Amino acid sequence: MAQETIFSKIIRKEIPSDMVYQDDWVTAFRDIHPLAPVHILIVPNKPIPTVNDAAAEDEQILGRLFTVAAKIARQEGIAKDGYRLIVNCGEHGGQEVQHLHLHLLGGRPLGAMLAQK
Ligand code: AMP
Repeated sequence: MAQETIFSKIIRKEIPSDMVYQDDWVTAFRDIHPLAPVHILIVPNKPIPTVNDAAAEDEQILGRLFTVAAKIARQEGIAKDGYRLIVNCGEHGGQEVQHLHLHLLGGRPLGAMLAQK
């Protein structure tokens, strides 16, 4: 069983969050340190630590992350102008929380995909 993180407590509503969506498979809540006017994390309810741990049996859950991202982008009014989805993995990817999550960022032009260094 994967080690639990703060995200599991948010999913179970044991600690507060600004939750915008939840179903049987995924939960979405606003990032506590937003990097854009819209910055929402979409996480599988199952605590998959990183993309490296994603298994074939998780494919439906992982697909749900994207369809929910599109739904939330429409709700937030950023679908037409566009947005960015980011999944960090491991140390070089800058992943801080070991519970796989999709960042949904938008509400302003986001610039280049990566910092220049
Ligand atoms: P990552 O670097 O991809 O692992 O991103 C982790 C994200 O989780 C960061 O953007 C944090 O600001 C965010 N975060 C950490 N704790 C919380 C929390 N309690 N509620 C909402 N977002 C959080």
